[in-house]
Amino acid sequence: MKLVSRNFATPDSHKLAVYEQSGGYARIRKALEMEPQKIIDEVITSNLRGLGGAGFPAGRKWSFLPKGNPKPRYLVVNADEGEPGTCKDKYIMTYDPHLLLEGIMIASWAINSHTCFIYIRGEYVKQARILEEAIAEAKAAGYLGDKIFGKDFPLEVIVHRGAGAYICGEETSLLNSLEGQRGWPRLKPPFPAVEGYLACPTIVNNVETISYVPWVIELGGQKFAELGSERNGGLRLYSVSGCVNKPGVYELPMGTPLREIIFEHAGGLPEGRTLKAVIPGGSSAPVLTAAEIDIPMDFDSLAKAGSMLGSAGIIVFDDSVNLVEALAVLIRFYAHESCGQCTPCREGTGWMRKIIARVLDGGGRPADPDNLLRIANNIIGRSICPLGEAASLPVIGFVTKFRAEFEEYIATSRKVDAPATTSRMAAAL
Ligand code: SF4
Repeated sequence: MKLVSRNFATPDSHKLAVYEQSGGYARIRKALEMEPQKIIDEVITSNLRGLGGAGFPAGRKWSFLPKGNPKPRYLVVNADEGEPGTCKDKYIMTYDPHLLLEGIMIASWAINSHTCFIYIRGEYVKQARILEEAIAEAKAAGYLGDKIFGKDFPLEVIVHRGAGAYICGEETSLLNSLEGQRGWPRLKPPFPAVEGYLACPTIVNNVETISYVPWVIELGGQKFAELGSERNGGLRLYSVSGCVNKPGVYELPMGTPLREIIFEHAGGLPEGRTLKAVIPGGSSAPVLTAAEIDIPMDFDSLAKAGSMLGSAGIIVFDDSVNLVEALAVLIRFYAHESCGQCTPCREGTGWMRKIIARVLDGGGRPADPDNLLRIANNIIGRSICPLGEAASLPVIGFVTKFRAEFEEYIATSRKVDAPATTSRMAAAL
């Protein structure tokens, strides 16, 4: 079964006429006949979770908007997809921008918002252009603007391009960036639903989350919920990359076993290779060993296993991959993307980068695995935003579960010259 990916392979699927031929914009017409609170109730029943990574129930988030507040309400779609290993929102915006717009219309009607911003990462130039064209088509058809579908309900959708900072995928730094300020995360509370864009009530939802809203309206909340697992409703997009025969984006029910995704849908490993490790939910999710992949891919099951579903960006490592070098790439990424606002994250990610560079360059010390663990554990719980943990959890996972590989790397690389590729990586770090 396919829902949001249903039109991906259809020629010209990004055009309004093609979208309408497949039943597009019927759900917003239905929604406009419903009471806004009824839509929120259906989304709560659907168990639709925040699919950007946090997994917070979408309907509950909408219900947090303060009642009786005279300020305008805003909907902000988070299209700042930057988690390594994740490319699902890009597919939706490329192949089905009108599905996203229909979701925006339904959500805006439900929460009584007349302005929606799509905050899209700066690197997604093509997708920003596709969205602009789709908005223009919808406006020309009377689906956006002063009266959507003839209803006395104005709605404008504005595409706002970011400048390429990973941290702006965090909702409060996104809002600061949207306001024209430096993209630094804010302390919470207040949460955006109470004080968000320009200190007004604001709902921030991911592209994929909003794109499932039309399907909640079409199927009904209960039926949508039943497509997934307990408390994790519906389907979702899994991006699979790394050592598999068929990397790509797969739409499957919430709770699909990780083994099935890797070995059935993504075609398994290259011939002769064995599985070593899997990152299940984007690079910040703690790594799983080959023995841990018989697990349902939903938020609750992975949390119980000490990892995260996150953005469902699955990265597969076979026995050809050196995990010390793989972790070095992740550490470099997070050290580069730390915004520098809080000391444990700013300094800790920098120290971890220096230690792993030293290890790669053949100067690793026997105490370095513990040094990495100590620094990572001192970042967790001491930072303003989740990036501190996102930088620490991969380090803890890799070093704890594959300690022998780190110890061997340190011991052997101290005896021989590091290979040329390794030296180049160390220099880059
Ligand atoms: Fe910035 Fe890191 Fe602090 Fe987040 S945790 S606010 S990225 S320094």
